[in-house]
Amino acid sequence: MNLVLLGAPGSGKGTQAEILARNFSLRPVSVGDILREEVKKNSSLGQEVNVYMQKGVLVPDEIIGKVIELYLDRSKGFVLDGFPRNLAQAKMLGDILTDLNKRLTAVIYFDISREKIIERLSGRRICKKCGAIYHIKNMPPQKEGMCDRCGGELVRRSDDNEETINKRWEVFWQLSAPLIDYYKDKGLLLTVDASKEKEAVFDEIAAKIKEYDKDKVA
Ligand code: AMP
Repeated sequence: MNLVLLGAPGSGKGTQAEILARNFSLRPVSVGDILREEVKKNSSLGQEVNVYMQKGVLVPDEIIGKVIELYLDRSKGFVLDGFPRNLAQAKMLGDILTDLNKRLTAVIYFDISREKIIERLSGRRICKKCGAIYHIKNMPPQKEGMCDRCGGELVRRSDDNEETINKRWEVFWQLSAPLIDYYKDKGLLLTVDASKEKEAVFDEIAAKIKEYDKDKVA
């Protein structure tokens, strides 16, 4: 099974990518996480992409294309979080999949209001070491400021500030939202109510995939 998760920043794609990967044995590919790792290493790629990320705008497609080709596994199904983010990237993904002799099973659209996004992103914390995601109110760690999984320090993402959140929301509606119709026209779009708790969102995704095409959930 090959999935794409589509939705505004803070709609819960990263959390669901982890759960879906675990439950369906998929490879989770989060472009944002891959880029943040490069920034942390201070590699030349990291330095280049950091400028865009801090502004909340998209990193150029040529860079993203190279990154994604490296991470798409030939043997295992995948769940893509944060790619594609515009029509050019969607076409790029189509070409890569043709080369790999694969196809998309479904595109999950995370439907959510702006108010809910602001609440989520302002309380979101991530582990500096392993990238696990928490929320100070909705998904708190057992010990404040410390990752349950690896003991790493929990920090606020540097692009989770009000100004950059607003920019990322704007960029989503301008550049990524056309993908909703693009994939709807291809008969691949499944819409879920992303304002619910993470377990309920997962249940809705799993039920919709099953109902949409039983044969594809192999
Ligand atoms: P995310 O973790 O998905 O919210 O992504 C954080 C930032 O990484 C975005 O605001 C962009 O600057 C960059 N980014 C992530 N995925 C992409 C992509 N597919 N295309 C361009 N830029 C991206």
